[in-house]
Amino acid sequence: MPTWTLHTEFKFDAAHFIQDYDGKCGRMHGHTYKVHVSAKSHKLNPSKYLETDDMVCDFKELKWAAKGSEKGGLDHSVLNDELSINPTAERIAEFIYKKTKERIPDGIKLKITVWETETCWVEYTEDNV
Ligand SMILES: [Zn+2]
Repeated sequence: MPTWTLHTEFKFDAAHFIQDYDGKCGRMHGHTYKVHVSAKSHKLNPSKYLETDDMVCDFKELKWAAKGSEKGGLDHSVLNDELSINPTAERIAEFIYKKTKERIPDGIKLKITVWETETCWVEYTEDNV
């Protein structure tokens, strides 16, 4: 079966604190988060910018979170304000997954990896594609 997998990476700076955390992570602090997005598909699609079905999806739709929070992204945001849940790395990955899914065609298997530090990261995916 033909299979294409797009990969892209970006970084954003943001502040957060972990609600109810018994330790220093419970105080407001910042991270430079690194995000890797992979998007796997067995077919190609048209996009908002290309009428013919020659793309899995637009790379720019996978990188929305790199934009400033005033433009709908997460850069220079307070993650406790952007997410309606406690902004652990796990929840940030899930949030980016769900928001990215809304921007791309159906049938694409997404995987989101979020690095909170150089040595700590989490992957999130869903097995429904
Ligand atoms: Zn933190």
